[in-house]
Amino acid sequence: APPLAVSDAVVRFENVHFAYVPERPILRGISFTVPAGRTVAIVGPSGAGKSTLSRLLFRFYEPQSGRITVDGQDIADVQQDSLRAAIGMVPQDTVLFNDTIGYNVRYGRWEASEEEVREAARLAQIDRFIAALPEGYDTPVGERGLKLSGGEKQRVAIARTILKGPPILVLDEATSALDSFTEREIQDALDRVSRGRTTLVIAHRLSTVVGADEIIVLDQGRIAERGTHGALLAQG
Ligand code: ADP
Ligand code: ADP
Repeated sequence: APPLAVSDAVVRFENVHFAYVPERPILRGISFTVPAGRTVAIVGPSGAGKSTLSRLLFRFYEPQSGRITVDGQDIADVQQDSLRAAIGMVPQDTVLFNDTIGYNVRYGRWEASEEEVREAARLAQIDRFIAALPEGYDTPVGERGLKLSGGEKQRVAIARTILKGPPILVLDEATSALDSFTEREIQDALDRVSRGRTTLVIAHRLSTVVGADEIIVLDQGRIAERGTHGALLAQG
């Protein structure tokens, strides 16, 4: 298969149907477009199929019918590695490797300069612990590793994604109750990383996606509502 050729990075779901098991359809005809450099947020109750959409975009599963395209290329027809290289994922939960925070930021992009690593860490606001070792690994006896909060771990993942610089982003927003200061900090970091990139946000709360260009509400495998935050609120 040819590699994915990314130009504008327009992502399109076209009448996508998907079921993990045939008797239980999860997505029943989903169509939407994430225009170049814009942000679309997917909201809906737990189990609605939000994460399933992102798994299909990474091609962990194939739709039973319909298709998903990037710049008009059906993702089923392109080299899988090139697809995954073009899409960055900021997960909710991050497992840190047994090394410094700086190493964790650099992971998978070994050619990055020290300066680039520092800049990514600065944007994600974790530069103050770039040389620290996370707690709980084989830190030398007598040395205490740094205990990172969930929010700080997520910012490590954000820094890693900033460094990687993919044209397309999937952000899985945290479900856990972060304190409002941490939530604001993470939101700021996510806004910085998504600016100018084509972004699909898996959102757990409508309040965090005020700035999305479009919000898609999934319910029982279909798009129940769609619009801007203001328009959805006006509808009630
Ligand atoms: P959401 O992200 O909206 O909470 P998911 O996309 O994770 O929902 O899941 C949608 C539905 O698909 C859920 O009912 C879930 O139990 C089911 N599901 C998810 N993964 C699998 C799987 N690997 N096999 C079978 N069913 C699954
Ligand atoms: P890519 O596969 O993206 O081209 P590289 O060729 O630089 O990346 O590295 C291939 C793989 O080797 C990496 O994905 C990583 O698992 C491993 N690797 C490379 N350098 C290091 C390192 N300094 N520490 C740990 N693992 C490394």
